[in-house]
Amino acid sequence: MKACYPGTFDPVTKGHLDIIERAAGLYDEVIVLIMRNPRKKCTFTEDERKALIEACLAGQPYADKVRVDIGSGLTVEYVKKIGAKTIIRGIRAVSDYEYELQQATANQILAPEIETLFMIAKPMYSFLSSSVVKEIALNGGEIAPYIPTEIIEQVKEKLSQYE
Ligand code: ADP
Repeated sequence: MKACYPGTFDPVTKGHLDIIERAAGLYDEVIVLIMRNPRKKCTFTEDERKALIEACLAGQPYADKVRVDIGSGLTVEYVKKIGAKTIIRGIRAVSDYEYELQQATANQILAPEIETLFMIAKPMYSFLSSSVVKEIALNGGEIAPYIPTEIIEQVKEKLSQYE
């Protein structure tokens, strides 16, 4: 069975990667879907975000079960197109719940045959978001605890353009 993990991943963090790894433990194939959202102002382009995720996955024992793609439009349409039945989302705190509930309910109405599966964040990553990583990097802080070593330099380099 396939599952789709949609998100912005601007950039991917250890919290996202933990969800990907856990999802790969449950499904035969996990499609990490970078959703194109013209209303969201992103730091990294879609192709850059895809390359960053792929660089983190390289060499991981579960890498062969994971594929990264870029999509637009309704997530449920993409999920139907690839023949999956599950959307994976992460929940860090109560603050995530309201938004996630709204999205999942809208998707349920649009496509009742597709389920949203929520995975709770590991406590060590429950405060971690792409915005926190960017904020720390922009202010000269150390981002190594939050994103894999493979992509630290690329992330720092990109954010240095915003200083
Ligand atoms: P979106 O803009 O779709 O929320 P994000 O890249 O911010 O995209 O997040 C994608 C999904 O991953 C969301 O369900 C979010 O709650 C979850 N997520 C983000 N950070 C973490 C984390 N540290 N631990 C677990 N889940 C997370």
